[in-house]
Amino acid sequence: MTRVHAYAAPDATTPLQAHVIERRDLKPTDIQIEILYSGVCHSDVHQARSEWGPAIYPLVPGHEIVGRVSAVGGQVSRFKVGDLAGVGCMVDSCQHCDSCAEGLEQYCENGATWTYNSRERDTRLPTHGGYSTAIVVTEGFAVHVPESLDIRAVAPLLCAGITMFSPLNHWKIGKGHKVAIVGLGGLGHMGIKLAVAMGADVTLFTTSQGKADDALRLGAHHVVLSTDRAAMKAARGRFDFIISTVPSGHDLNPYLMTLRRDGQLVIVGALEPVGLSGLPLVGQRRSVAGSNIGGIAETQQMLDFCAEHGIVPEVEMIRMQDINEAYERMLNNDVKYRFVIDMAAYRAEQEQASD
Ligand SMILES: [Zn+2]
Ligand SMILES: [Zn+2]
Repeated sequence: MTRVHAYAAPDATTPLQAHVIERRDLKPTDIQIEILYSGVCHSDVHQARSEWGPAIYPLVPGHEIVGRVSAVGGQVSRFKVGDLAGVGCMVDSCQHCDSCAEGLEQYCENGATWTYNSRERDTRLPTHGGYSTAIVVTEGFAVHVPESLDIRAVAPLLCAGITMFSPLNHWKIGKGHKVAIVGLGGLGHMGIKLAVAMGADVTLFTTSQGKADDALRLGAHHVVLSTDRAAMKAARGRFDFIISTVPSGHDLNPYLMTLRRDGQLVIVGALEPVGLSGLPLVGQRRSVAGSNIGGIAETQQMLDFCAEHGIVPEVEMIRMQDINEAYERMLNNDVKYRFVIDMAAYRAEQEQASD
C-alpha cells in the first residue's frame, strides 16, 4: 500500500479537510498515476454531502483526473511510465454483461465501480477520487490524454466533456443539424463547443440574459431567453436535438415544443422528476431520453476529437486548500465554467513540508 495525501469529507456536514489515504499495491494490469490536475464536478458536492444517498466516509471526491503514469504493473500494455493519462467517473465494471461487451461500461448491468464513493469489486474497499496526489487504476479504465491539449484545462473533459459528447455522438449530430443546449454551466459550455465542432448550428437556451455574450463567445450561433414567451413561441419546431443540462427537476414541455418532428430531447443533468406532457411527444413523434457519461472507448474518442479540434473547457485553477470555498461558489453559479484543482502544486507543498 502507498500512503497518499488527499482531501476528504469526514462526514456529510463537515467541510473537506486534509487526509491521508492508502492506494493499493499494483496488480499486473494496474497503472499508478501521479495526479496533476483534478476537476471539480457538481456531483462531488452532492456526494460529499450524502445528497444522493448515504455516502462512504471519509470520502475523497474527484472524477476528472489527469496526471502522468508513474509506475506500471507487469502485464500493462497500453501505458508506460511518463505517459499522460486520464481517469473519469469509473474505475472498473463487471466486464462480462451485454453493456460491458459493447463498451458501455457506464451502463454495466452489474453496476460500474465509480471512481469514488463506491467499492472495489474484489476487496470491497472504498474507492477514492482525484482530490489526491496519486491513484492506482486498472489500465483498461484509463485513457490517453493527447499531449497537444492544455493539460491544466483538460481534466473536466473526463466528466463534463464526455457527458455532452456521448449523446451528440450517439444521436449522430453533425453538419446540418440544429442543436440547442439548455443551461450554460460546466456541462452546457462544453456542449456548445463540442456541437459547434461537430458542425451543428447551435443555440443556447438560458434564463439569464447575462450569459448571452458568453455563449456567443464560446461559439454558439444563437441564444434564446427561455423566460421570453414570444422568443420561445418563435422557436417552435426549430431544433433537431436538445440537451438539457439543468441540474434540478424542471418542466420539459416548453423545450419539447421547440423540437421538430422526430426530434429528441436528452437529459444529462437532472436526477429529479421532470415535467412531461404527452401532447408535445405524440403531436410530432418527439422523444425524451437520458444519457450518462460515456464508455471508456468513447471517452478516448472524445479526447482525440478535442485534440483534433483544439477544444478544452474554460477553467479557473484553484488550490486544494480552497476547495470548500470553491464548492460554495459553484453552488452560486459563480464559476466560468469549471474549477480545476492544481494537484501538482499541492503535492509539491506536501513534499516540501515533509523534507
Ligand atoms: Zn462529474
Ligand atoms: Zn458489466
